[in-house]
Amino acid sequence: MKLYYYCSSCQKENNFTTTATNRFELQKERGNFINERCKKCGTVVKRRINRVHAKPNKWLLVLGMLLGFVCTVFFILFVPLLGVIVINSAIFSVPFIIWRQQDKKASAFNKVMVSDG
Ligand SMILES: [Zn+2]
Repeated sequence: MKLYYYCSSCQKENNFTTTATNRFELQKERGNFINERCKKCGTVVKRRINRVHAKPNKWLLVLGMLLGFVCTVFFILFVPLLGVIVINSAIFSVPFIIWRQQDKKASAFNKVMVSDG
């Protein structure tokens, strides 16, 4: 999953990818601190595990919606209106379901803190 932290120097949000799904796993993987170079200003940022947060990928939702609109235009041309409505509600619900799952995962990550001495 993708995790986010703020640069201590320029306050911009940075992210990194990890296989950890909670802070305990992240702590095992990285130790008590995240040491990453800020992608915006180049400062090496040291952040406590508890200061790192997860959030759902909004691009998934945007991409899903876009794909939905493209499909809608296509279906309107070839499928009767009732069919379009049925197909569309199915198409549009998929990105929302995926996004909700991601949102659940992210809030589960954010809820649990580790003791880092
Ligand atoms: Zn920075």
